[in-house]
Amino acid sequence: MSIRIPAEEIEVSEEVDLLVIGGGAAGCAAAVTGARLGLRTSLVGEMPFLGGMSTGGCVGSFCGVYMLDSAGSIQPLTGGFPQEITQTLLGRSDAIGPIPYRDTAVLPYVPVGLKRAFEERVRAESRLRVRLHSKLTHAEVEAGVIRGVVIQTREGRVALRARVYVDATGDAILSRMVGAPIIEGEEVQYPSMMFTMQNVDVGAAIASVPKLDEILEAHYESEGLPRKSGNLIPTGRPGEIIVALSRLELNGRPVDAGLEHELSWAELEGRHQAQHLCEFLKAKVPGFSDAFLADYAARLGVRETRKIIGEYVLCEDDVLGARDFEDGIGRSAWPIERHVAGGETFWRFLDRGQSYAIPYRCLVPRDVSNLLVAGRCLSAESAAFASVRLLGPCMLEGQAVAAAAQRMIADQASAANVDVDRLRATLTELGVPL
Ligand SMILES: Cc1cc2nc3c(=O)[nH]c(=O)nc-3n(C[C@H](O)[C@H](O)[C@H](O)COP(=O)(O)OP(=O)(O)OC[C@H]3O[C@@H](n4cnc5c(N)ncnc54)[C@H](O)[C@@H]3O)c2cc1C
Repeated sequence: MSIRIPAEEIEVSEEVDLLVIGGGAAGCAAAVTGARLGLRTSLVGEMPFLGGMSTGGCVGSFCGVYMLDSAGSIQPLTGGFPQEITQTLLGRSDAIGPIPYRDTAVLPYVPVGLKRAFEERVRAESRLRVRLHSKLTHAEVEAGVIRGVVIQTREGRVALRARVYVDATGDAILSRMVGAPIIEGEEVQYPSMMFTMQNVDVGAAIASVPKLDEILEAHYESEGLPRKSGNLIPTGRPGEIIVALSRLELNGRPVDAGLEHELSWAELEGRHQAQHLCEFLKAKVPGFSDAFLADYAARLGVRETRKIIGEYVLCEDDVLGARDFEDGIGRSAWPIERHVAGGETFWRFLDRGQSYAIPYRCLVPRDVSNLLVAGRCLSAESAAFASVRLLGPCMLEGQAVAAAAQRMIADQASAANVDVDRLRATLTELGVPL
């Protein structure tokens, strides 16, 4: 049996310069920057809130915003939108640090504080319309140009049209809909269910972090733990720790969060796993004996699903070789951090004081002229992706595609033909070190 869906012709209800699909960290950076640069902008997000994994996935620390210099001191790296957001959070005690972590540095934050920071920024832009609870379902493409998209809202389907589209869905949803080439067949990283514990003796818990991997390793088999290493992230709020110890495996491989049945299974299994980990922490890790599980992340933490094949594919040598690119749109120095099989996490670090440039071409899908991507669906091989997928780079990419959209509109250029010197000049004005 099949169900017939009647064909529908939908009048375009809004025409904008820039349409951003996906309200995660990358999408927020793109939409806010686009509006600030004078573009009539719309942001479409399927969730009821902004931030994607950074808030709903409760990841809990900014990585890739700082680096260690050759003397081992922590230095800011990104400038621009990531710096603006982190400074806001620090000013409100919604973040603490930056603090050293595994030969690099991170900034732990309070997820609800980050939601607020994103929301304040979108609300401040009169040229920006935000549509929440709205899911991209269709796109029409003709001769390599996106003509319009359809979103499913609470009132039914709505058609939108833009001069430039940004795929910030994390899963390359729009890119796939319009037939842009996608990297196929690579093993993706394992997803995790983050959760928050309260009434923790934070001092004791943090003092145990250097020994955490040893404790996990010792109990990995006997307690059926999902990981042999992990992290306990203090939010700075009294007694509160975000726990990064879960990992979702199905039949000896990572859950494919691009598949409905696997994603549904992993949401339920992840929360079950969190409960088990909570009991383990209370029993075995100093500081947790009186703690309780305050909440699970609102959604499964998905590191990687589908990525585009762009005009350039970032590779491991680019990252570890600290390569510069003439079309660099910002810098990253986060190590290669891969969540792999057997409960392991694989790390490879750049030399201290080294960083690499993120090429604009990694944000330009092939075969579609008015589409850009930002965030974790960019064009990168899996090893390079394991470095560039973090929050600092994702927000830099969002900022860069908005500046690129401005150039595309001003110069009537396709995404692939953007004047990168002028794009980089705009990014410099926005405070991004290149
Ligand atoms: C468990 C875990 C731990 C992590 N830890 C850290 C960390 O400590 N530090 C760090 O810097 N990074 C960390 N990361 C990585 C980082 O969180 C992500 O790579 C980053 O947040 C991705 O941002 P994004 O905007 O590209 O994608 P996402 O945050 O995934 O946002 C995509 C948005 O698009 C929306 N969307 C998708 N499809 C549609 C559609 N059809 N219509 C409308 N909207 C749609 C989604 O709902 C979502 O809101 C972690 C990731 C995970 C999963």
